[in-house]
Amino acid sequence: MLFRLARPLIDLVFPVACAGCGREGGVVCGQCAEGLERLAAPYCRVCAAPGVSGLCQWCRRFPRGFDSLRSPFRFEGAVRDSVHRLKYKGERAAAGPLAGLMVGYLRRNGVAVDAVVPAPLHPLRMRGRGYNQSALLAWGIGKGLGLPVREDLLVRIRNPRPQVETRTQQERRDNVAGNFVCAGGAGGLAVLLVDDVATTGSTLSECGLALKGAGALGVYALTLAREG
Ligand SMILES: [Zn+2]
Ligand SMILES: [Zn+2]
Repeated sequence: MLFRLARPLIDLVFPVACAGCGREGGVVCGQCAEGLERLAAPYCRVCAAPGVSGLCQWCRRFPRGFDSLRSPFRFEGAVRDSVHRLKYKGERAAAGPLAGLMVGYLRRNGVAVDAVVPAPLHPLRMRGRGYNQSALLAWGIGKGLGLPVREDLLVRIRNPRPQVETRTQQERRDNVAGNFVCAGGAGGLAVLLVDDVATTGSTLSECGLALKGAGALGVYALTLAREG
């Protein structure tokens, strides 16, 4: 219990060290943010799988539940470290600056959506971690762009193995199939669907299917980082 209480205090007492250079100044300092490894073309035009021109094998075989998936960065170096800290080390304070990097990307590339929706955690995992890192990013983006955040829209109804334990794309896809339901009215909405990292995009695709099944007009997925 003491450990759980101490976590947020640590964030407040000790300024967050930069994942790039270790200096104080946020999870990624301004200087290191400039040098982060951006996801550069070519990439799959639907799911941004790196190194692919046109459509990746996966997007050719299966229709995706989202209209597009984009990520500003590769899942490498300081980006990887900062996501790890946000997700597994209890450093909630990392969410604000990382959301800021996503807002910068959206401003440069344009975004026309009605609401921001985080990829949900299953309630059991939420209880274990105490927070949903994707929701923290979504709230930061909503604040940065003046958009409503609809954390109520998606619910995770099954708690599968963590996706990191799956080996193949097929396994990842099977592991999350039918995991999400849309619990609110998504009719007519264009949605920005937010998560921290995309590996194959299977989780986001399932979220997109649930949203579209509930009437969402468009589902545009954005993650801070793209693996692959
Ligand atoms: Zn730095
Ligand atoms: Zn693709």
